[in-house]
Amino acid sequence: MPHEKNLSLQDLSYDELNNIIKAWGYPSFRAEQVYIAAQQNKDYDNMSNLPKDLRHKLKESYFATAVTIIETFASKDGTEKYLYRLNDGNVIEGVFMPHSYGNTLCVSTQVGCRLNCAFCASSLNGLIRNLTSGEMLGQVLSVNALKGGTLKERKITNIVLMGSGEPLDNFDNVVKFLKAVSDEKGINISLRNISLSTAGLVDKIIELADMNLSVTLTISLHAPDDKTRSKLMPINNKYNIPRVIEAAKYYFEKTGRRVIFEYSLIDGQNSDIESALKLAKRLKGFPCHVNLINLNFVKERGLRGVSKDTTKEFLDTLAAQNISATLRRSMGNDIEGACGQLRNKYLKEGSL
Ligand code: SAH
Repeated sequence: MPHEKNLSLQDLSYDELNNIIKAWGYPSFRAEQVYIAAQQNKDYDNMSNLPKDLRHKLKESYFATAVTIIETFASKDGTEKYLYRLNDGNVIEGVFMPHSYGNTLCVSTQVGCRLNCAFCASSLNGLIRNLTSGEMLGQVLSVNALKGGTLKERKITNIVLMGSGEPLDNFDNVVKFLKAVSDEKGINISLRNISLSTAGLVDKIIELADMNLSVTLTISLHAPDDKTRSKLMPINNKYNIPRVIEAAKYYFEKTGRRVIFEYSLIDGQNSDIESALKLAKRLKGFPCHVNLINLNFVKERGLRGVSKDTTKEFLDTLAAQNISATLRRSMGNDIEGACGQLRNKYLKEGSL
């Protein structure tokens, strides 16, 4: 059956496309045309430079684009949240954040998530399925097009793999995506401008380090001791804090890129001064950075963030211990587009 695997033209690398087009007996400049059209997020109807029979043949096997933006929510702070419909009807979310230095897109890697962190909305329905590389690339290409960008004049300069899903639980597709999105023939976003966030899948962190892809690795730590972390993040039962930090060090040694630890401050769990001191002790001597963020409220999860004073105390305690740390401004709260608030809508709002 055609389209069985939700594949679109955006799933194909230039070489893969070239092989297909050649096997069908077309000259290779046609592959170039199809590739560029796909990167421009065009529908088949808008590929008028291609012969009808070629379009028809492609259409039998591949969707033109991977995602369709079906709704946009604009925050007061300039952040925008999108609902993307996938070709099989699932709906995922993504967030656009304008900055003075460029624009960042927060990209989802799975429909749902299986990690079930105690504070996050993304796994409320479990893992539905992995996204293909084309479905990740499609998020970037569709927003770039929506914002009036082209392949040369990009409207997205930075990417964070911090939407719903665990990127390292969908390793092969994520690696394929990283190659596709940094392809010189395509949108060509530098890997140096991409952050990959993980809950700490140690084996995969090591595999990624060995690939030397020069993406920034961000690790969601959220606790200074294994007891607290296991309560908040069940994955800690498999990969505990010492192993996660060891993997982070390996990543740094291999790639020379400073690792960032994400730490959400949660009332009554991980936000007192003792926790800050324990965290500092863990990280002492490792050239890394801590990104603090006040927990965003997710109604099904019940946990709460902390006061401004508590945040400041935590930050000051880290600073006094010579740990590099900053407080991340939370964006897009009013549209449920902030960290941990992204979810899949399909099951709850099947009519979308
Ligand atoms: N699975 C990956 C990618 C998700 S990134 C990971 O765990 O890193 C999303 C980031 O938001 C993670 O750091 C996650 O721990 C954090 N997060 C989840 N729920 C949150 C919430 N309610 N408030 C603030 N941050 C949250």
